[in-house]
Amino acid sequence: MVRGRISRLSVCDVRFPTSLGGHGSDAMHTDPDYSAAYVIIETDAEDGLKGYGITFTLGKGTEVVVCAVNALAQHVLNKDLRDIVGDFRGFYRQLTSDGQLRWIGPEKGVVHLATAAVLNALWDLWAKQEGKPLWKLLVDMDPKTLLSCIDFRYITDVLTEEEAYEILQKGRVGNREREAQMLAHGYPAYTTSCAWLGYSDDTLKQLCSKALKDGWTRFKVKVGADLQDDIRRCRLIRDMIGPEKTLMMDANQRWDVPEAVEWMSRLAEFKPLWIEEPTSPDDILGHATISKALAPLGIGVATGEQCHNRVIFKQLLQANALQFLQIDSCRLGSVNENLSVLLMAQKFGIPVCPHAGGVGLCELVQHLIIFDYIAVSASLKNRMCEYVDHLHEHFKYPVIIKKASYMPPKDAGYSTEMKEESVKKHRFPDGEVWKKLLAGQEN
Ligand SMILES: [Mg+2]
Repeated sequence: MVRGRISRLSVCDVRFPTSLGGHGSDAMHTDPDYSAAYVIIETDAEDGLKGYGITFTLGKGTEVVVCAVNALAQHVLNKDLRDIVGDFRGFYRQLTSDGQLRWIGPEKGVVHLATAAVLNALWDLWAKQEGKPLWKLLVDMDPKTLLSCIDFRYITDVLTEEEAYEILQKGRVGNREREAQMLAHGYPAYTTSCAWLGYSDDTLKQLCSKALKDGWTRFKVKVGADLQDDIRRCRLIRDMIGPEKTLMMDANQRWDVPEAVEWMSRLAEFKPLWIEEPTSPDDILGHATISKALAPLGIGVATGEQCHNRVIFKQLLQANALQFLQIDSCRLGSVNENLSVLLMAQKFGIPVCPHAGGVGLCELVQHLIIFDYIAVSASLKNRMCEYVDHLHEHFKYPVIIKKASYMPPKDAGYSTEMKEESVKKHRFPDGEVWKKLLAGQEN
């Protein structure tokens, strides 16, 4: 039973100095310090349970997200959790429609990242109070309640609530079997850990052969900074993994539209399944042009990790601008908005392959994609979830990967809670790790 009035919301800036090792580096983000705005929500209920929520950032700028979370707090404090989840659509709309704050969005940018962190904490708390992992809370929810969490505003021209209900009703056929299958075998994953742009060829080789030994069959390589360099690195990785295994490429928005087509025509010999974020994430028609041009080469377009909201996803789907849709658990307005995108993707028959990595993105998004398989898509064809082997040790309930698959979490909640000592050490700027690093910079 859902219970408690929200008595406290706190937020802090947690950063990991990943830039020191080149981890996470790509053609556009050369020195990311993987970070999170970390929200903790407490209630006056006697159970003492807390909700934890994050949104992912790259270091600088986290303090701006923290400010936005504080600005949103007034909508959450003193609310009864029952009232929030009893009308989650209404609450989502209240949060995203604040008459003054929406001017710095609406439903995009910093204020939307902050919305995600707050709502992620509420979903974590709800699932914990129900004693279920989030994916199971969603799987067990009756379709009407599930749909009452979604704001259908701006998407009813492609998906009405009635159509969404039909999709969920259809998804109930065989769902018990699919749940058992997930519990036994997990959800298929691919790895991005081997081929960050800042890694040397030796590191790449070393990581790739270890990944092969660990049973990985799907790999992603970062491209886009230098063509000759890309050709060398893609050849190296394709030679190592062999012709049968799956290779994806990710340009992280580096190119103009014609450049993307030209560059990928040169990399086509390495048989990538997709090119991810070939150009600006806002360029819907540009993605459509690239998709059309690369289709004869057998290369699809994937995008979504910096897609603002459900409206942009709607248009990407309408324009045939992507062949793989990449939801992100911390960019969109939490579970609420991601549910609407999963349902739209299902309507258009486009496979969802979530974006993950960063801080905690794997921990969160696994819940959404496992739910998607059990209750919405019922298919694993051309579907896999990104995996990056970083920073899991800072989470209380880290992901479990077996045979290159995500095993469904069993602990109650949204797997968002970080270890207290990790937060203490990595708080910016006063945690022990940062105090040392910042003092070093001054010298
Ligand atoms: Mg990417």
